[in-house]
Amino acid sequence: MQMFEPVTAYIALGANLGDAAQAVRGAMDAIHALPDTQVSRRSALYLTTPVDSDGPDYVNAVIEVKTTLRAPHLLEQLQKIEQGAGRKRPYRNAPRTLDLDILLFGGGHISSPALTVPHPRMAQRAFVLKPLAEIAPHLVKPAQLRAVRDQAIEKL
Ligand code: ATP
Ligand code: CA
Ligand code: CA
Repeated sequence: MQMFEPVTAYIALGANLGDAAQAVRGAMDAIHALPDTQVSRRSALYLTTPVDSDGPDYVNAVIEVKTTLRAPHLLEQLQKIEQGAGRKRPYRNAPRTLDLDILLFGGGHISSPALTVPHPRMAQRAFVLKPLAEIAPHLVKPAQLRAVRDQAIEKL
């Protein structure tokens, strides 16, 4: 059996339909239950005004995971969890029951049709940078936080 060294990855969670807080908490537990994957840090839950999206306020969070899954396999597993939460994609940036994005995967750069890492829009989003800075302050520069300070976000 081939074993890989564990990689530290960061995943953004978001939801704004149904019981969004429960969906985000449930997804953290579902990710922890994935094969070869442990959740090592969880941010608080944040309430945010939709930025690129519409509909009700979002619940957002970021987790750190240690995983020996390869990035495409991790994405596949995250998409199954989204499906299990009833995720639909009626149009781009539609309100959603659950969204799971890979922000960072070790120090890796990935550019394939299905997966871009680091996540290309993370630096524009307070709902990503604030919870990421909470659990991994070394990964977010003060200037990055200043650049998104006008976006409404509060701890739940
Ligand atoms: P955004 O990417 O701007 O946050 P979104 O999360 O609403 O938008 P989705 O409809 O959830 O977009 O995802 C569209 C596709 O993005 C997915 O099918 C997936 O293949 C692709 N994708 C590319 N890079 C990533 C990544 N780093 N994490 C998750 N999905 C990604
Ligand atoms: Ca997203
Ligand atoms: Ca997504």
